[in-house]
Amino acid sequence: MGDSIFTKILRGEIPCHKVYEDDHVLAFLDINPISRGHTLVIPKEPAETIDKLSDDAAAAIGRVLPRISRAVLAATGTQAFNLLQNNGVAAHQAVFHVHFHIIPMHDDSTGLGIVWRPGKLADGAELAKSIASKL
Ligand code: 5GP
Repeated sequence: MGDSIFTKILRGEIPCHKVYEDDHVLAFLDINPISRGHTLVIPKEPAETIDKLSDDAAAAIGRVLPRISRAVLAATGTQAFNLLQNNGVAAHQAVFHVHFHIIPMHDDSTGLGIVWRPGKLADGAELAKSIASKL
């Protein structure tokens, strides 16, 4: 795969406002924040989408997401936030290197807007079985 902008940030070729780094993970402020404190958490492994990420890299991210989220909340004086993780152009992904958005929701409702269109689960038993069989 080609280098994404985040690969360049990982290599230090493009600057970022870093908030956390370990051997497997980097976190930095989003350049166009939806709200104050909007932070991106990325694995160092260069997977485009999360379904292509290794278990180890996923575990490394999972280990630090709660801690980084707590720090974002504490620094911005917020209590609510969304974790957003887009995969694929149709799902709003613009940078093809796995990333989690931590987006604080401020008291004035500055934060992630969500259009949620709940449907009805028709074939739950069959669908769950089908997904489980592919794990
Ligand atoms: P996506 O839509 O792919 O989930 O989100 C990509 C995010 O990366 C966007 O929120 C965008 O503002 C952020 N972004 C894109 N380029 C840069 C950059 O060069 N530096 C930083 N810090 N964030 C970036």
